[in-house]
Amino acid sequence: MRKEIITLPPAAPGSEARLTVLRFGPPEARPKVYVQASMHADEVPAMLVADHLRRRLTELAHAGRLKGEVILVPQANPLGGAQGLLGTHLGRHHLSSGRNFNRFWPDATVAVLARREIFGHDAAANTERVRALAAQWLADEAASMAHGPDAQLKLQLMQLAHDADIVLDLHTDDDAALHLYVDRDCWPDLADLAALLDAKVVMLCRDSGGNAFEETVAAPFIALKEAGIPVHQPITVTVELRGRFDVSDALAARDADALLAFLVHRRVIAGEVSVPSFAGVAAPFSATEPVRASVGGVVVFLKEKGAQVRAGETIAEILDPATGKRTPVPVRTSGRLFTRTMHRWVLAGDVIAKVQGDTPLPERRPGAMMTD
Ligand SMILES: [Zn+2]
Repeated sequence: MRKEIITLPPAAPGSEARLTVLRFGPPEARPKVYVQASMHADEVPAMLVADHLRRRLTELAHAGRLKGEVILVPQANPLGGAQGLLGTHLGRHHLSSGRNFNRFWPDATVAVLARREIFGHDAAANTERVRALAAQWLADEAASMAHGPDAQLKLQLMQLAHDADIVLDLHTDDDAALHLYVDRDCWPDLADLAALLDAKVVMLCRDSGGNAFEETVAAPFIALKEAGIPVHQPITVTVELRGRFDVSDALAARDADALLAFLVHRRVIAGEVSVPSFAGVAAPFSATEPVRASVGGVVVFLKEKGAQVRAGETIAEILDPATGKRTPVPVRTSGRLFTRTMHRWVLAGDVIAKVQGDTPLPERRPGAMMTD
């Protein structure tokens, strides 16, 4: 294992944050895999999974079983890790800028498309050219612009990830069944990962809006493909490792095993693995219904996470404690209720759950599908 520490520029003197980068396997060997944990710094299960990965990858490297290079960032967001307010840790948004840590990632697409004339008919050569152009653009951005620590954090991480063959972004939802976000062209190819992780829902994304990390890594490659230029699009996945409170070594060991089995299946790690068949739901992200509270109050769920629900069914009631009135919350979509809010006091308009159906919803338009 090779360890690198990247010091982020401080927001103020004396407040440097450090990013730890771990590399396993032969340097520069392909397939190159990039894994980061807990970019939303309050999504803790991912960091425990990364610790299991660190130990297992160290053993695998000693045994000579790593064929490709694996880069692991076990705590992707040291800035968010240090944020608290009035006794509560807050890791989803950068408090100083207000920005969501998983939005507005630096996107090399414009810089790559500006050099469209250098691309030919050879997909492998084109892929190398995209990587080189993106690397140059990211290095120039990191060096030349006055970025705050959160923007520099993203530039540093994107420089590690932009040329990977496989990118795994480990997150966690509120109170949820394990689910994935994947680019629609990565499906059904990624049914092996979904099956090994026993994912209950796979959302097939493209241009969701907000420049989330996994979409932004792939964006220049997808833009070229859409322009008719042959290129190898990387495998990019956001893994939502259940809910915030699902922090246990038993679950983390199981998830690390599944991720490593996937890397065996993809010939990053030498060995044999048998892959079960995928038993969950895979459908467009535009068919994901964010279920919103129409009023504020105490949310009392009537359905468990993972439940099958029917359109029109009430999944929760919201109690006004002053009057005793309960307002039912029906869903519009038949499908799998795969995540619920972890809060039990909600405000009007809050998303309290999500249901994965199979039919795109009219209001879920490209570029505007992220809920926050
Ligand atoms: Zn997240």
